[in-house]
Amino acid sequence: MSTLSSKTIPSAKIEAVRDHLLLWWHANRRDLPWRHTRDPYRVLVSEVMLQQTQVERVIPYYERWLQEFPTVQALAAAPTAEVIRLWAGLGYNRRAVNLQRTAQAVVDRGGTFPQTVGELQELPGIGPYTSGAIACFAFEQDVPFIDTNMRRVLHRVLVGVDVPDILLNDKGITELAALVLPPGSGWDWNQGLIEFGALQCTARKPLCIICPMQDICAAWPDIQTAIAQQPRGRKVSREVPFKESNRYFRGRVVDLLRDRDRAHTGLTLDEIGPLVRAEFQEADLPWLFEVVRGLEKDGLAMVAEDEPVYDAASSESAAAEPIDLGSVRIRLP
Ligand code: SF4
Repeated sequence: MSTLSSKTIPSAKIEAVRDHLLLWWHANRRDLPWRHTRDPYRVLVSEVMLQQTQVERVIPYYERWLQEFPTVQALAAAPTAEVIRLWAGLGYNRRAVNLQRTAQAVVDRGGTFPQTVGELQELPGIGPYTSGAIACFAFEQDVPFIDTNMRRVLHRVLVGVDVPDILLNDKGITELAALVLPPGSGWDWNQGLIEFGALQCTARKPLCIICPMQDICAAWPDIQTAIAQQPRGRKVSREVPFKESNRYFRGRVVDLLRDRDRAHTGLTLDEIGPLVRAEFQEADLPWLFEVVRGLEKDGLAMVAEDEPVYDAASSESAAAEPIDLGSVRIRLP
C-alpha cells in the first residue's frame, strides 16, 4: 500500500476540488425524497435501504415504509413479521430486522437519536458509514465518511487510477475525506460526492470527457485505458452456485412464510421443503432445519412451538424421544 497521505495534497488543489464538485452538485443533483428531510429516523431508513439496492428501486419502498412506520416508535413497536413483510422484494432481509433493532435501541434511550458519530455507533447495526451519514445528513455536521462512490471519486481525483488496484486504504481515504471536506458545507459536500460517483465518475464508465474535474483529476487520462484493459464480464466463480447456496434457500423460506402464512400460525418443514427445493426428500429435513435455525438466529424466523423440539447436538435426548422434524412448525417472528 502506498505511503501517499493527505499531507501531499496542495491546498490550491483542495480548494479547486471543493469548488468544482459543489458547483457540479448544485447543477446536477437529483431530487430524492430523503434529501428533503433532516429527520434522523428517515435518514437511517434511506441509508439502510440504499445499501446494496439501486436508488430507483428504493424510492417506492422508502415511501411505503414511512406510511406504515412513520416514526422510530412505530417501527420499534411493530410485529417483526410485519417489518419483514414490508421489506419483501428489497432483498437481504436481515437489514429489516437490524433496522428494527436499531429503532428499538433508540426508543430504549428515550426515543431520541444520539447526534455524535461515536454515540451513533453504539446503536446496534450502525457502523462508520451510517453513523457519519446520520450525523451529516440529519444533524448537518461536517463529518467525513466513505462509501463505494465516495471512495472511488476521492481516490481518482486526489490519488490516481483505482484499477486494477487501489493505492490507498480506507483509513487513508477517510483522512483525505476529512481534509477536503469544506467547513460549513458538509451536507452538500457529502451528498455531492455520493452523487458524483453515482452519475459522473462511475466505476466502469466515468464521463471524463465532460467532467469539470478533468484538469485537476489525478486519474485522468489514464483511467480510461486502465478501465478498458480490465477483463469484461468477468464471471465470479462460486464454489456453490447461488441457487444451491444456503443464502438462496434462506430467502426462499422467508418469502414463503411472508406469502403463505398470513395467519401467522406457521408452516411445517414438511410443507416448506417441497416448496423451496425441487425433489425435496425426507432425508433433507435436517438440512432444512439447520437453514431455519440460521434464520432464527438472525431474528428472521422462529420455531412456532414454545419448547425446542430438536437439538442436533444432543444425541442423548434424540435417542430418548424420536423427533418428527417434518412437523416442526416455523413462522415469522
Ligand atoms: S476526469 Fe474522469 S476519473 Fe477524473 S473525476 Fe472526472 S470522471 Fe472521474
